Amino acid sequence: MIQKINERVFVIGSEGSANVVVAVQPKGVIIVDTSLFSEKAQKIRDFVENVLKREIQFLVNTHYHPDHTFGNIVFENKSIISSSLTREKIMLMDEHYLENLPASGKLVPATATFEDEYREGQVFIKRMGGHTPDSSIVLLEQERVLIAGDLVFNDFHAEIVSDSDLDAWLSALESLRKYRVDWVVPGHGNFADKGCLDSMIRYLKKIQRLVDGTITYAEILSDENFSKRGFPELFSWGLENLVAQRAK
Ligand SMILES: [Zn+2]
Repeated sequence: MIQKINERVFVIGSEGSANVVVAVQPKGVIIVDTSLFSEKAQKIRDFVENVLKREIQFLVNTHYHPDHTFGNIVFENKSIISSSLTREKIMLMDEHYLENLPASGKLVPATATFEDEYREGQVFIKRMGGHTPDSSIVLLEQERVLIAGDLVFNDFHAEIVSDSDLDAWLSALESLRKYRVDWVVPGHGNFADKGCLDSMIRYLKKIQRLVDGTITYAEILSDENFSKRGFPELFSWGLENLVAQRAK
C-alpha cells in the first residue's frame, strides 16, 4: 500500500510491516529502508523508475534489522548509505542468524558509511541508538518529515530486542521532539504528527516502570497506549528481552 504524505514523499508498508519511504529530492529519489522481501523491494524500485520516472539517488538503511535491509539486494548497483555500525552488523549475520529468515541468498551492506551524522543537501541522517545501537533517523528538512525507523512504533507494539537500550531510546525520542517537523514516519505503523513521539515516550517509560516493579501488569493492560497496539506477542517478547538484560 502506497500512502502519500505530500506530492514528494511516499510511505510504503502495510499491516505493521516495516515502512519504506520514497522521497523525491532535487537530484533524484532517496529510498529509506528496503523491507524484508526482495519482491516488495523490486516493486518499489519499479514504482520509482516506471511510475515516478525518476533516478534513484541513494538508499539509506536506518538499522541492520532484516525487515529494513534485506531488500537491498534489488538495489545492488546503487549507492546505499548507513552508519558504519549498521554495515558491521550486517556483515556479522551468519547462518545461525539467517536460518529462519527469507534471506535472498546475499546480504548487501552499505556502499558508503558514516559514524554519527551524514548530510546530503536537505537530507540529514543521524545515528541515535536506542532500539538498536545503530538506530538512525532520516530528516527531510525541506518536507519537514522525520523518518524515525524503529525508534517509533505507531499502532503496534515495539520490538524491544536484546541489544535495545531503553535509556538511550528515551533520550533519542526526547531530542527528536525538538525537531521542527510536521510528520513522523515510524518504523512500523501509520505516519502521524509529532504526538506519536509522546505516545512512544509514555509507552517506553511505562515498560521501564513495569520492569522496575513500580507498576502492575494490569495497569499496563488498561492503558489504551498498550491495549490498542497490534502484535501483543511482541510486547511479551520485549519484556523477556528486558528481564534477560537485567539478569546479566
Ligand atoms: Zn528494528
